[in-house]
This record gives sequence, C-alpha cells and structure tokens, in this order.
Amino acid sequence: ESKRHHQPGVVFFERGMDDMFSQLLDMEPVLKRAFKNNEFLLYLQPQFDFDHQQLCGFEALIRWQHPERGLLSPAEFLPYIEQLGMTDTLDSWVLEKAAATLKRWHQKFDHCWPIAVNLSAQQFQHFQLIDQLQAVVDKYQIAPAALELEITETVAMSDLHNGMSVINKLRAMGFNVAIDDFGTGHSSLAYLRSLPISKIKIDRSFVSELQVNRTDATILKAMIRLAHGLGKRVIAEGIETEDQQMILQQLGCDMMQGYYYSPPMRLEFAEQLIERELKEGREPLPAPFAAA
Ligand code: C2E
Ligand code: MG
Ligand code: MG
Ligand code: MG
Repeated sequence: ESKRHHQPGVVFFERGMDDMFSQLLDMEPVLKRAFKNNEFLLYLQPQFDFDHQQLCGFEALIRWQHPERGLLSPAEFLPYIEQLGMTDTLDSWVLEKAAATLKRWHQKFDHCWPIAVNLSAQQFQHFQLIDQLQAVVDKYQIAPAALELEITETVAMSDLHNGMSVINKLRAMGFNVAIDDFGTGHSSLAYLRSLPISKIKIDRSFVSELQVNRTDATILKAMIRLAHGLGKRVIAEGIETEDQQMILQQLGCDMMQGYYYSPPMRLEFAEQLIERELKEGREPLPAPFAAA
C-alpha cells in the first residue's frame, strides 16, 4: 500500500526509485483534474505589526485539498508541478485568487489588508511577468500596493542584472516587493541597498535557533540594523513562542509572522480576523514606504 510522508519534495508513494518517472506520469492527470475541479486553496497567514500591535497583512500560501489524501502542503506537490511544466498554471491561479480576494475585501470591508504572494523562480524570470501583473491589477481593479510580491533571496540574486531591472519595474508599477527567506542565500549587502524592496523577511531558521544559539541574536541584530539603515522594514518568519516574539521585538524587528500569532488559515477565518480588527477600530496601516 502507498504511504505518504512529509519531507519536502519527497514523493507520495514509497516505491522504488526506478518508479519515480512513472509516478511523475501518474501525477499528470491527477494534477490536471485538481486544477479542473478547483482542488487548490489559498491559505492566508496573518502578519502582525509590533509598533501598532495589530494585523498588518497576510501571506498567501497554497494548499491542495486532495479528495483522498486530505490537505497537502506545497512541499508535497510543488515539485511535481514544476517537473510536469505546470508552474505557469499554478502561478496564474495564485495571482488571480489573491487579486480576487483583495477585490472581495475592498467590496466587503471597504478596506484592503495587503496580501503577499510568493513568486516562483520561473515566474520571476519570465519575460511576461510585468504584463501578467498589469493584467491582473486591471482585471480586478486593485491597487498594486495591496499586492506584495515575495521573491526569495536566492532567486533575486541569481541574475543580478536582470533581477534588479525586474524589481525596479515592479516598484515603478507600485507593487511592494519583499525578499523572502532572507539570510539563507548569499546576498551582497551592498547590492541589497540598490534594490527598491520594501521588506525583508528573516528566515525561520534564524528564529528557531534563537534560544539554543546565542550568536543568532547577534546576527539578527546586525541584519535588522542594516535593513533599517537601508530604509527597509523587517518581518521575522516562523515565530512560535512568546520568548521568540519578545526577543525579536527587542532586537527592533517591525513585524512577525508565525504560529505564535496565527497559523495559515482559510479565507473565512481570515475574514473573521479582519472583522474583529475593524470592530475594534484597527484599520489597515498605510502601505510601507519603499526606499528607492
Ligand atoms: P515561505 O514563503 O517561506 O512560507 C513560509 C512557510 O513557513 C509556510 O510553509 C508557512 O506555513 C510556514 N510557517 C509559518 N509560520 C510558521 C511557524 O511558526 N513555524 C513553522 N515551523 N512554520 C511556519 P508552507 O505553507 O508549507 O509553504 C512552504 C513554501 O512553499 C513557502 O515558503 C513558499 O516558498 C512555497 N509556497 C507556498 N505557497 C506558494 C505559492 O502560492 N506559490 C509559490 N511559488 N510558492 C509557494
Ligand atoms: Mg513566502
Ligand atoms: Mg519565507
Ligand atoms: Mg522560509
């Protein structure tokens, strides 16, 4: 019998390695059906602003509600999507869904909390990215600043020249750009200065090591100082405990995202959170200023 396991990028069934290829072929119709039957969901994970002590936005995280296997996380299916060349389809779906949600919130709440979407490497490097984003913004009539684009540090740095020109264009169109998984790649800090990004997302690995490893606090402090010196805001990913939250806040971090504040949630729960914020008089914060 087949058995699912949870390591990133690992296959669904424990068969021989020889069967990887046939398995990939098996997945193709299943994934096509998933798109056709709308089996994907955009979960939203709230982000919290320390200064204002309130909700400040969401990150969109894809899930697959598999009819037999239950809710699957991206590590369990993104590798297949990539290998089967279906990345474009997924990326478009995510963008449309996020934009539709922003429009819905605008109509329903008269306010929009920004939603961050993760750009795949392929999407970031695609020559049609700019047109695709413009089309989505036009179609849903949303403010570009409400859509934040997350690009991992590794992808942003992989082709410095092209990366910089794309990020400059995105910024000129009014999108906010965040550097995801910051600290895990090999950024030149000087290079970071020249990018008009608004936000740096400190990778979860730095946060989870905090209690056990004193040096991490030193590194984090330096990172946050540097980011602030360059006019960028800083969010820490993967905050799970009150201690971690306190330390990050003391180190000057601006925002947090993590299970301690909230796990990723379905749209209906995100909307309940928004309703609570509004009821208590907390409106969305102005979009962050991005240093040019
Ligand atoms: P990411 O963009 O760095 O997303 C953060 C991941 O950390 C998410 O995992 C989130 O559920 C998880 N997380 C949040 N808070 C905590 C915490 O306190 N503790 C722990 N242990 N984990 C936490 P998820 O949803 O499994 O996504 C994994 C990765 O898959 C994402 O990393 C992102 O790179 C990718 N991904 C997710 N959705 C999309 C998408 O729509 N498009 C693309 N291209 N990639 C996506
Ligand atoms: Mg992300
Ligand atoms: Mg991240
Ligand atoms: Mg990460």
